[in-house]
Parts: sequence; C-alpha cells; structure tokens
Amino acid sequence: MERTWHKPLPAADLLIRGGRVVDPLCGVDAAQDVLVKRGKIAETGKGLAAPKGAREVDADGMLVLPGFVDLHTHLRVPGREHEEDVASGTLAAAAGGYVKVFSMANTDPVIDTAVVLRGLVGTARAEAVVPAGFYAAVTRGLKGERLTEMAELAEAGAVAFSDDGRPLATAALVRRALQYARITGRTVAIHAQDDSLFKGGQMHEGPASARLGLGGIPSLCESLDVARALEVAAYEEAPLHVHHVSCSATLEHLRRAKAAGLKVTVEATPHHLTMTDEAVSSLDSNLKMNPPLREEADRQALVEALQSGLVDCVATDHAPHAPMSKDVPFEEAAFGTTGLETAFAVLYTDLVKKGALDLGTLVTRMSQAPAAIAGVEPPAIRPGAVADLCVVDPRATWTVTGDGFKSRSSNSAFVGRQLSGRVRLTLAAGRLAWEADA
Ligand SMILES: [Zn+2]
Ligand SMILES: [Zn+2]
Repeated sequence: MERTWHKPLPAADLLIRGGRVVDPLCGVDAAQDVLVKRGKIAETGKGLAAPKGAREVDADGMLVLPGFVDLHTHLRVPGREHEEDVASGTLAAAAGGYVKVFSMANTDPVIDTAVVLRGLVGTARAEAVVPAGFYAAVTRGLKGERLTEMAELAEAGAVAFSDDGRPLATAALVRRALQYARITGRTVAIHAQDDSLFKGGQMHEGPASARLGLGGIPSLCESLDVARALEVAAYEEAPLHVHHVSCSATLEHLRRAKAAGLKVTVEATPHHLTMTDEAVSSLDSNLKMNPPLREEADRQALVEALQSGLVDCVATDHAPHAPMSKDVPFEEAAFGTTGLETAFAVLYTDLVKKGALDLGTLVTRMSQAPAAIAGVEPPAIRPGAVADLCVVDPRATWTVTGDGFKSRSSNSAFVGRQLSGRVRLTLAAGRLAWEADA
C-alpha cells in the first residue's frame, strides 16, 4: 500500500565520487563512491567508473547520508497555500536533505474524509518534489467529538492519525481512537496538551516567563496529557506516537512506558533540542511555538534521550506562517517555526560538532528511525536500494536569512544563526530533487 506520492521526474544516473558514506543501518562509515543508475544504487565501493553519459559529482570532503524523513510537516494544503503548498514545501524538504515528508491534517478543510485525502494524493502526484504522505484527523473537523471514518481514510492512504494542533481532550476519546485505529493497522499520534493548563499561555512557565510577564505554559501541561495517553494505550495494548516532546517530565513517563513494553514512539524537534526559553527574552515571535521552548535541563534531557533512543526520531514540526501572523506583538503571534531547511545543519552545528551527539546516531534519528515508524522502507545506501540520499558539505558555513528559503514562509527560529553543514544534493525516490548552486 502506497503511503507517499510524488511527481514523475526522470530517474537519476550519476556517480557520487569520494564522499564519506555514513549509513548506520548498513554499518558503513567509510569513503566510498556511490553509483546511481536509473534511480537505483547500482554499486558502492572505491574507484568506480562512471558509465558513459552518467554525471559525476565530486563529493570529496562531503558526507553522503541516507536521506531524511520528516514525520511532522505542515504543508498547509488545502486552504493556506499562501503560507506553503505541496510544491514549495517539498522543495524546502529537498533543500534540507529530506527524501520523504508526512503532512499534518490541521488544514482547511481538515483532512478528515477520504475525498479530501484523495485530492491531496492527486496534488502530490502532480507537484511533490520529494514523496509526500498525509496524516488524517482523528476527529471530524479536529473538534474532538466524533471520530473520522478511519478505515476509509487508511484505505485512501493515510499514514497515521493525528489531530495535531489540538489535543485529544478526554481519556474516553483517546481510548476510542486507539481502538478504531488499531483495526486499520495505523497508529494514533498525539499533540499532548492539557487545555485547562494551557489557557492564555504564551511561553514556557518558569523564571523567564515571570520576568517577561508573559502567560506561562507549564511542563505539566504536556507531561500530564502524555501520562494519561500512555495509561490508556497500556490498557488497550495499542501503539501510540507522541509528537514534539519538549520536557524532561514527559521523558520520565515515556521511559517507564517503554520499559514496560508499550509500543510508543517519540519525536523531538530541532528547536527543542537546541534552544531554551531564555532566548524568548528577545520577544522575537519566531521563537513562539507550541509546545514552547523549555529550560536548559529539559533541553539536555532531550539530547540525552535522542542519543539513547528514548526519543526515537527528529521531526521538524515545520509550521509555515504568513507575515501577518508573525509580524505582530509576541502575545498576538501564531505558534510555530519552519524547520525543514535548517534541521540537519542546526543539529550538526549545535550537537554533533559540540560532541553531544554522534553523527551516526543523528543520521539514524533523522532518516531510518522515522521511516520505520511511518512504515516505509528505510533509506539505505546499498546496491539494489532506491536512491534516497543526500550529499552534505560539513565544512560549509552559512547564515540563515529570511530571504534564503525555498519554503513560501520565512518564520524560522534560526534566522540570524550561523550554521555548519549545507545540503548540496538530494536524491529522493531515485530522482534529483535538489542541487545547490555551486
Ligand atoms: Zn503539535
Ligand atoms: Zn505540528
């Protein structure tokens, strides 16, 4: 059953010469040439000859990595195409080294019927530069009342079910969602948030929010909702995916649940892994996101959990917003930051280069682990595999600027940052999806 769709592009023929191939799944970390023929990896090794007519890419000094997979993108279609659409969002993904993205259902209309989902599949077939897949909503209109027709949505290609942007507000709703989703073989993913604790919140509740006089969103708002969902999932013996975990209290619940054998998977975002609420002192609305940036102890706990595997994968929560939603006072701004084009460089610069995370683990968490969670073939750089890979120059430094994005929106929390690591080329589904100007 297909879970992603993309536009027909010509299959690639090229020889990537001399790069450092880092593929934890295949147990490879070595200088190798990679020969791609008709979109498939034909051969890897040293001193490979380019077949007649095939292009050669000099990857000397560069990393050749399994392409990244994002389980949490907002492509904003249908309904908010002025902020992002399938073409712009998947090009942004390709520019960030992504070879697959999965888009959320909090659109207008909501992806809550097979008709809407089939329309998106058609759009992806016409426009997607890298394969795109779609979540379907858990409840109709994301209203938290009646469940969607999950069987029909799964049949139409939904990768999983999520009301992302909204929590599943009652234990009964979580329970019904898990029961019905299980029949379809798809997982329920939760945006954990206890609304009674969220009310009026603008940023993490702590010393920084007190100083700034901004309404706080306590860690408890997340950890309590996750704890409840885990209890229900354990009771139902059903799998669960937790979106954008942000605080150490939540990690403790997840640790216990995993130790008890629950099938729970967890994602964390580049911004929660690298930034804290102290940065919000700038009152830059691009730093307003939900869940909010937490404290340094939370950030460190997330990094350790990413290294250990308690956090299974990185997901961007790429959330494009129009200037009118962000060029306003902090209190009035929308929640969210973009992330597809900066994710690898941010994590490489702030975690790998500083020795907090090893490169192979980062690759696993950005590529192969999220692919496995989505139920798609994990990208691998081995003969016979479809070419899903990216070439990254780790020496390239660049400054993130608002006008440098392929995304239609520029509300990035990382604008102004100097980063190391630039994606030079991306092959997705065997097609050349991205190549940076030399
Ligand atoms: Zn969310
Ligand atoms: Zn989201």
